[in-house]
Formats: sequence, C-alpha cells, structure tokens
Amino acid sequence: MEMRCDVAVIGAGSAGLKAWREAEAAGAHAVIVEEGPGGTTCARVGCMPSKLLLSSAHRAAAVRTADRFGVRATLDAVDGPAVMRRLRAERDRFVAAALEGWEAIPADRRLDGTARFAAPGVLAVGDVTVQAGAVVIAAGGRPAVDEALTPVAALVHTHETVFEIDDLPRDLAVLGAGAIGLELGQAFAELGVRVTVIDASDAVAGVTDPAVARAAAQAVGRTLDLRLGCRLDDAAMADGRARLRWTGDTPGEGLFDMVLAAAGRPPDLSRLCLNRAGVALDERGTPLFDPETRRCGDAPVFVAGDAGASRPVLHEASWSGRTAGRGAAGLAPDTARPPAFSVTFASPQIAAVGAAWDDLPPGAVVGQAAMADNGRARIEAGGQPDGMVRLYAGADGALLGAAMLGEGVEHVAHLAAFAVARGLSVREVADLPFYHPTVEEALREAACDALERLG
Ligand SMILES: Cc1cc2nc3c(=O)[nH]c(=O)nc-3n(C[C@H](O)[C@H](O)[C@H](O)COP(=O)(O)OP(=O)(O)OC[C@H]3O[C@@H](n4cnc5c(N)ncnc54)[C@H](O)[C@@H]3O)c2cc1C
Repeated sequence: MEMRCDVAVIGAGSAGLKAWREAEAAGAHAVIVEEGPGGTTCARVGCMPSKLLLSSAHRAAAVRTADRFGVRATLDAVDGPAVMRRLRAERDRFVAAALEGWEAIPADRRLDGTARFAAPGVLAVGDVTVQAGAVVIAAGGRPAVDEALTPVAALVHTHETVFEIDDLPRDLAVLGAGAIGLELGQAFAELGVRVTVIDASDAVAGVTDPAVARAAAQAVGRTLDLRLGCRLDDAAMADGRARLRWTGDTPGEGLFDMVLAAAGRPPDLSRLCLNRAGVALDERGTPLFDPETRRCGDAPVFVAGDAGASRPVLHEASWSGRTAGRGAAGLAPDTARPPAFSVTFASPQIAAVGAAWDDLPPGAVVGQAAMADNGRARIEAGGQPDGMVRLYAGADGALLGAAMLGEGVEHVAHLAAFAVARGLSVREVADLPFYHPTVEEALREAACDALERLG
C-alpha cells in the first residue's frame, strides 16, 4: 500500500502530536506514525506518574515533620500497594486524555507501526510506503541501562516499568542522580524505602553552579545514601537480591531488592535507518539540525522533542514540535526558542534558567539570596530552610540566568525564566512588584544583591 502526504511525523509523543497539529493547521496534509501504546511518555511513564509518586511521598514526609509545627502525628504505615494503585488510577486519566488527542486524528492520517526511512522522503511502515514532502522526527528517547546490570536484570527497572510495581521495595539502588533518578529516589525514600543513589558525576540533577551543587548534594544526602563520583563495578544475584559493588570517591557495596536504571534517556534513532534519510549525522547517529528552526541542513527533515538530544523537557518538546510542524509545512518559526529552563522536583527543589554557570561571560556577577533570610521559606520549613537563589547578571546589568535550590523554587524559577525570555535587566526585575511574604521575594533579594555588585 502507498500513501502520499505533505508531512509525515514519526512518533506520537508530546512533540509529534504538536508537530502534526501545527502542520495540519498550516494547511498541510499530515500523517503521523506511532509504534507503541501511545499516550505520550509524559503522561504514561514520565512527568505525571513521577509527580504522583512524589505527591504520596510528600504526604508521608509532612506527617514525619508535623511535630516541628506543634502538630502531634505519627506515621502508622505507608501502604505500598495503595500508593501504586492510586498512582496508576490517576496516571491512567492523564493517558486517556493524551490518547483522545491521537484518536481525534482522522484514521487515514495515522498509522500504527514502526517507521524507518527507505529513501529521502520515503518511509516504510510495515507494508505501507509513505511518500512525504517533509518528515518530522519526533521519536523521543529510551532509558539507558548499564550493561554491568545484566546479571541482575530480573530486578532492574527503568521509568518505563517502575510505575507498574505492585508494592514498594525495601532496599533500592538508583543508578543516576539526574532529575529522574533524584525525583524517584527521593520519592521512594520518603515512602520509607532505604535508597542508595550512585552517580559518576560530582553533582546532582546536572547542576553546574558550584554553590548550588554543593548545597543540593548536602540537602539530598539527608534523605538518601548519595554516592557521587562513583561507578558501578559489579552486579550479581545473591539469595534473590542484587549485590552491587561500586568504586570511586565513596566505594562500597550493598544488597538491594530493586535497581532503578536512571542514567540518561538518549534518543534511540538507530532503527530509523537515518543513513537513508539524506541528512548529515553526528558521531552518535543523531541528525545535525538547526536548534532554532529544527531543520536538518537544506533537507526537508525536522527534529523535535527528546529525539534532538538536548533539553529533554516537556515545554521544549512542545515548542520544538510546533516549530518543526510549521517548518515541515513551509512556515517559518513564529516563536523564539525558550531559554533553557529545568526544575527537579527533589526535596528541596533544584532549578536552572538561562545561561549555565560554565557559559557566563567575563565580567558577569552573581547576586545571591539565602533561603534562610526569606520569611516565607522559614515559616514553611519550621526551622532553617535549605537553599539559595543565585542570579547571573552581565556586566551591562542584563539578566542572563539563574540557579536555585529550595522548597517552592519552581515558582521563583518561572519568574526568572519569564524575565530572561523577555530580556529584562536585574534592575527591571528588582523593580517588579513582589507580594509579601512569599518565596518569590528571594528573586528580588538576589536581583538587589546583583545590582550592588554591579555598583
Ligand atoms: C520519569 C520522567 C519524568 C519526567 N518529568 C518531567 C517533568 O517533570 N517536567 C518536564 O518538563 N519533563 C519531564 N520529563 C521529560 C518529558 O517527559 C519529555 O521531555 C517529553 O515527554 C518528550 O516528548 P517527546 O514527544 O519528545 O517523546 P515521547 O513522548 O517519548 O514520544 C516519542 C514517541 O515516538 C515513538 N516512536 C519512536 N520511534 C518510532 C518509530 N520508529 N516509529 C514510530 N514511532 C516511534 C515512541 O513510541 C513514542 O511514543 C520526564 C521524563 C521522564 C522519563
């Protein structure tokens, strides 16, 4: 069977669905291909179930710390099966909503199956050949699993399977202290699981700002056994459990009844036969593309979402899907790429916006506000709150970026991201209205500190 279309989209995740809609809205005849159960990574195995697990965990943590606030409460038990059942019930609602988007696509414009390139502009999907004027690659990423885990494979989960477990483990090893490993590791720890997190780098959540990285590792290390600067050396089964041995800064070994592989989620484009797509590839086989237009050189091929291997977060998938869909339909981007913006929903939260520490230009200054000096943060912490907000300003006063740590900094990070996206200066940020008492006031404090340092 043969199909002809203006635009073919590979992958019906958040980026692909957005690209399909944009291409159709621009008047193109677009076809979208999905090989999996659909419902998007975000809703099925990503953002939403991870936050659902965290919401149960935070309830348990709140009971444990209620005493600080004069509220006497004891945590009788965490009902693991009930936590997981609730997670899946709520998660399924999000998945159903995402699937509605897929089912709303006319049947002659969606295909179930695995797409691969047969030639430039030609996709093979099972026995269907799709001739497309342009192609959007929105095939997402897949969790990387360390080969050293092969002997204990029966106990290994990734984010694709962990939300299906019936009960909580007693001892969990998490490989990877990035956003996914940290969020899930801390959620399990707050639910009473003994958690060890092992990561080769010396920072959690990919933080590059040295002050935030130090404070984050210290704060996170209070709820779990954090082994930074360590590599998995050996894994073997021992009486039905996984015996892991790691070497590095704090070498050690432990017995675990579950292992979570969370060391990255790179694009898995090998199956797409990109060597037949007529595009240039980097050494990892990812197409070279313009990050602003998402286009691969002059070829009518566009890349969107996690498949692009940078900034694997939902709002980037959405923006790049929109831009790629428009581009594939022959339209220019109508919005600029948002500034880098990430939030790790750890306890305390970790966020980064705009320019990273390593990319700051000469003459840049850092304005800082400690959470311990923020009235609202103290009230909510019931004691000394962790963290700080650090704003980066150029020598001319332009707000370049920020890094922060603290409970509720997701809200501060949003304001900082809006300010960077709108090109505000630290003076303009300091002059904005801030309600009192709020965690957001830490942004003004940091902006005022930056102004002082700029003289
Ligand atoms: C545990 C976890 C927590 C997260 N939390 C957050 C968060 O709090 N905030 C945030 O912003 N981001 C978060 N993310 C990241 C966010 O979920 C992703 O950035 C986003 O879902 C990526 O969307 P996508 O469309 O690129 O990929 P996906 O949604 O993965 O879509 C890709 C689709 O392509 C399909 N596909 C692949 N190859 C082919 C092929 N050859 N043919 C046909 N179909 C194919 C796949 O089956 C898949 O459905 C989280 C991710 C994880 C894993």
